[in-house]
Amino acid sequence: MREHSTTHLNPRSPLVLDTRDLPRSAGAMREVVRVVPAPEDLGLELIGVPAGADLSLRLQMTSVSEGVYVSGEVSGPLVGECSRCLREINDTLDVNIAELYAYAHSTTDETTDEDEVGRMQGDLIDLEPTLRDAAVLALPANPLCREDCPGLCVECGEPWDTLPADHSHQAVDPRWAKLNDLTR
Ligand SMILES: [Zn+2]
Ligand SMILES: [Zn+2]
Repeated sequence: MREHSTTHLNPRSPLVLDTRDLPRSAGAMREVVRVVPAPEDLGLELIGVPAGADLSLRLQMTSVSEGVYVSGEVSGPLVGECSRCLREINDTLDVNIAELYAYAHSTTDETTDEDEVGRMQGDLIDLEPTLRDAAVLALPANPLCREDCPGLCVECGEPWDTLPADHSHQAVDPRWAKLNDLTR
C-alpha cells in the first residue's frame, strides 16, 4: 500500500468541499454554489485574481464508483498589467473545473499517480490545486489590454494610445530648426 501525503484539510476553509452530505451511491449529486475569498497568488505574474476578491463557485459534486467527480465553473475578477503598455487590465476569470477525486484505497487511488487524478482526503476535497491549474491554463503569460495594443514609444516610454498621431522624436538639425521658426 502506498503512503499518502497527509495534509490535514480544514473543512471550513473556503476552497475545501465537504462531501459528508453527498450519498456515496453512484449518481448522487450535490450542488455547491457559494462565493468565497480568493486565495493568494491565484494566477500568473502579470495577471491574476486579487487575494480576497470574490470567487464564485458554481459546482456539482457527483458520486461515482471510485470517488467524487467535481465539475462546473469558477469565476472571479482579474486584475493585471498589459505586457506591452503596462496599463492596468480589468477582466473576468472564468474557468471550468472537471476533476475526479478518488476515494482512498479505491482501485483508481491504487493505480494512478496523485498528479493524474485528485484524491479525497477523508470526506474532504481540496479544490485549490485544481483551481490553480485551471487558472494558470486559462490565463495569458503576456496579457494585453487589447489585441492590437500598440505598446509604448521606445523613445519616451509613453503609451502610443495617449500620444498624438504625429508624435515622433526625430532629432531636428539645429539649422533646420531655425528655418522651421522662420517659416512658422
Ligand atoms: Zn496595452
Ligand atoms: Zn515618444
